[in-house]
Amino acid sequence: MDYDVIIVGAGASGLVAAITAAEKGASVLVIEQKEKAGKKILATGNGKCNFTNMHQSPDCYRSNDGAFAMKVLSKFDNISTVKFFEKLGIVPKERDGYVYPNSEQAASVVNVLLMECERLNVQIVCNEKVIRVTEPDFTVHAQRQDDSVSTYFGRKLVLAAGGCASPKLGSDGSGYALAKAFGHTVIKPLPALVPLKSQDRFCRTLSGVRTLAKVALYIDNGFAACEEGEIIFTDYGISGIPVMQVSRFAARALDEGKTVHLSLDFTTGISVDELALMLTERCIASPHKTMEQMMVGMFNSKLNYVVIREAGLNPELSCRAARKPDIEKLAKRIKNFTVRINGTNTFDFAQAASGGVSTAEVDASSMESKIRNGLYITGELLDVDGTCGGYNLQWAWSTGHIAGSHAGGTAKTKEK
Ligand SMILES: Cc1cc2nc3c(=O)[nH]c(=O)nc-3n(C[C@H](O)[C@H](O)[C@H](O)COP(=O)(O)OP(=O)(O)OC[C@H]3O[C@@H](n4cnc5c(N)ncnc54)[C@H](O)[C@@H]3O)c2cc1C
Repeated sequence: MDYDVIIVGAGASGLVAAITAAEKGASVLVIEQKEKAGKKILATGNGKCNFTNMHQSPDCYRSNDGAFAMKVLSKFDNISTVKFFEKLGIVPKERDGYVYPNSEQAASVVNVLLMECERLNVQIVCNEKVIRVTEPDFTVHAQRQDDSVSTYFGRKLVLAAGGCASPKLGSDGSGYALAKAFGHTVIKPLPALVPLKSQDRFCRTLSGVRTLAKVALYIDNGFAACEEGEIIFTDYGISGIPVMQVSRFAARALDEGKTVHLSLDFTTGISVDELALMLTERCIASPHKTMEQMMVGMFNSKLNYVVIREAGLNPELSCRAARKPDIEKLAKRIKNFTVRINGTNTFDFAQAASGGVSTAEVDASSMESKIRNGLYITGELLDVDGTCGGYNLQWAWSTGHIAGSHAGGTAKTKEK
């Protein structure tokens, strides 16, 4: 069967690419290996789909080429995204810049995309995995579940196969092999937006404790990144949005054999001297209490105990006996609590993959490959990963929209 445009992957970028290509009048086929389209979108934003963010800046997108993402976004940005989805029926709801469908159901986003695909006669075949692309043009071979192989012919091909984060939702990394077969360079994919592992024993003691903290990431003892928000200690290490935000830098540093640690500040609003004064006043007010009792009410009781121990103090030390240097040590530990990192959780627990197809080999104005005419690459398959907050989906919508309109437009022009 012949199509103007074939799209590999019915995920976020693939479905938008299909719609925009079909709007240009192209005949479009989307091939999806899972049993249904848009599986990962359904899991986004805890099932509510944080589909973009009103705040956009270069540091929301990470890549070997820092400028590439903003060049792409200048062609189809967050405002265009909101308008695109409004046109499909999604009423947007904004909270602190984070944009969700008013229904708070990710299924609404998938449904409007699929309804539009249907209206535009986009063909979607599921349960078929693209395993190979050969000549002429784009002869696409896809394996069915019974191991038989379907063959489709496309004038243009969009690789929208995603990365390799959360493979059970679809993207299993097979897109990298397809891109490599065209001669593309793939920067080693590593987990991003992922919890971090630590062998520090206190993590197990603190497992389940949630608290606000400023999280500073250090690589080979040099400051690398900083985020603030709620963290969660776990049996294996540490999680929470600020940890996930810095995790892609930790993953890459560990992969390069560098040392990684986090410095947590549990009292961001005040200086170490102010904290020491506050602790001194608490000791003076209750000289009969132990250090651990003196801290009751400041933090989670497990954290109080661990912080005192990590400061090198005895939790049973009475406030009456505590000396100025003891209080200073405690204040310093609360402001600079070190967690040594020895790994990341696996791709199964990652919300995105860093690395991917080198953006140097892709034209930012069309998403067309600079290596093979008529080939387009979108979404997480590329070496761009967004921070938490709707940026990965924004990247998928932007690249999908640009690739679809170029592939669709040029496929029709050639035909005429
Ligand atoms: C749990 C979770 C929550 C998330 N929440 C958010 C959020 O709230 N906001 C946000 O911005 N981002 C979020 N993300 C990230 C976001 O979902 C992804 O970055 C985005 O979906 C990537 O879009 P994509 O089109 O590149 O790939 P995907 O959406 O992964 O789609 C790729 C599709 O291609 C198919 N495919 C792969 N290989 C083949 C093949 N060889 N043949 C046929 N089909 C193939 C896959 O099955 C898949 O359906 C979340 C991710 C996860 C895992």
